[in-house]
Amino acid sequence: MSAMVELRGVHKSFGGLHVLRGVDLDVRQGQVLVVLGPSGSGKSTLLRTINHLEKVDSGSVRVDGRLLGYRQDGPRLFELPEREVLRQRTQIGFVFQAFNLFPHLTVRQNLMEAPLYAQRRPRAAVVALADRLLERVGLADKADAYPRTLSGGQQQRVAIARALALEPKLLLFDEPTSALDPELVGEVLDVIKDLAVGGTTMIVVTHEIGFAREVADLVAFMDAGRVLELGPPAQVLDDPVHERTRAFIAKVL
Ligand code: ADP
Ligand code: MG
Repeated sequence: MSAMVELRGVHKSFGGLHVLRGVDLDVRQGQVLVVLGPSGSGKSTLLRTINHLEKVDSGSVRVDGRLLGYRQDGPRLFELPEREVLRQRTQIGFVFQAFNLFPHLTVRQNLMEAPLYAQRRPRAAVVALADRLLERVGLADKADAYPRTLSGGQQQRVAIARALALEPKLLLFDEPTSALDPELVGEVLDVIKDLAVGGTTMIVVTHEIGFAREVADLVAFMDAGRVLELGPPAQVLDDPVHERTRAFIAKVL
């Protein structure tokens, strides 16, 4: 299997705050990586560098073999213009904690927006795609509803379907269930689990240890800007090397 995401020695600071302190990471095609770690450890920043929403200060980020934000010509690197960066970004789906749906558009229109206007795909094909994706997340009956009439769990499932509408190579989730009432968490995790079974490459930041155990191929534990621990779920969750990992897992369980 080829590398879908490859980070080497990634550093990122905000002013004097050194947030990522040399992150190395490999996620192969079809793998699911779950990222755990305390608040402020750099998890969101890590995802944002992979989606090129943040530029790294040093080190490299490759997605599907391509260096993000750059064009390579032999040994030389050229920074890509913003338009090209945006195009690279459409190949990476991002699902946030807050669902960020367009409130003035129906559920179906939310899904159609990017394929129609960013990818300029024909309307009939995009309608069919939207309806297929709503079926997949169990919301076919909500196509004409407005986001505010849906539960938080349903809105997050729409957000996932919307991310899928660009047929991304890679899906990033930043605490996708943290804003949900506890009884709605399961339905969203089930959708993510289905995608994992279907072979979608994903990086999921979450505190849901049960999900990590069941779905992840790899679990990373981040602390203070470093990946302190990386391995199969059984190893990281049940037999971690670092005491800090053990203490964190005990706290979120
Ligand atoms: P996590 O997602 O693990 O909670 P974050 O990546 O969001 O951690 O944040 C790591 C640290 O970086 C925090 O101290 C946060 O306040 C800081 N940070 C994140 N984004 C910015 C930004 N755009 N400007 C300044 N500081 C930031
Ligand atoms: Mg975060």
